[in-house]
Amino acid sequence: MRFLEKIFQSISSQVLPSACIVCERYQQHSICAHCLQCLNVNGLFNYECCYQCGITLKSLELEEQRCKQCNSYPPYFDETYCLDRYEGALQNAVHQLKYQKRLAYAHGLANVWDHIFSKHLKNFRANFLLPVPLSSRKLSSRGFNQSWEIARRITCSPNIRKLPWALRRYHHEFQQAGGKLAARHLAIKGMFYIDDHFLEVLRGQSIIIFDDVMTSGATLNEIARILKDNGASHVTNWVLLRTAKVMHV
Ligand SMILES: [Zn+2]
Ligand SMILES: [Zn+2]
Repeated sequence: MRFLEKIFQSISSQVLPSACIVCERYQQHSICAHCLQCLNVNGLFNYECCYQCGITLKSLELEEQRCKQCNSYPPYFDETYCLDRYEGALQNAVHQLKYQKRLAYAHGLANVWDHIFSKHLKNFRANFLLPVPLSSRKLSSRGFNQSWEIARRITCSPNIRKLPWALRRYHHEFQQAGGKLAARHLAIKGMFYIDDHFLEVLRGQSIIIFDDVMTSGATLNEIARILKDNGASHVTNWVLLRTAKVMHV
């Protein structure tokens, strides 16, 4: 299927105009050269960020390359790589994918990732890449998991195996949007589990978690906790957009 999809995309990009996922002007690619260049120059990945949680660092934190919050309350995950800020040029594209269910944007966002971020991650060693899961109820109401739809299309080392179903999520009535931070941390606790078939597969392995948007870090921290409790050796977050909020782990 992926092979056919690639052929179709390569033919259609030659013969059909396409709207840039950022400025929406019609041209030949899913993102225009101008917007790609802007992201290349202004993307969050160009800035000095905390190696552990991906937040931009203050001058006093530069020496350790780690923010005060991670120093005082280290999260369970080891590293975080973020492409851009939530407030940046790609926010609308993520909203179109998530809330308007326009799946073509997953292809465009993966394209952006490949064009400007893959070279920074090409030597990254890991065994598996897992998307942040949705609960089965959420999955059936949205129809797809946006993190997986992007993650499955990005190019990464062939040694990194992508596993869409290893992590699972319970459905809770209290959803993540809104609510006080402490309440969100409580609400997220115990929300994830590893599918029985993958418990042994993931033990002792280095794992990448892919998320479309990282906000407080509570979700990714809880996922890393579950993975580490079950023997994962290293957990890294690959994130498309990072909000500027300080983490409270
Ligand atoms: Zn554009
Ligand atoms: Zn940090």
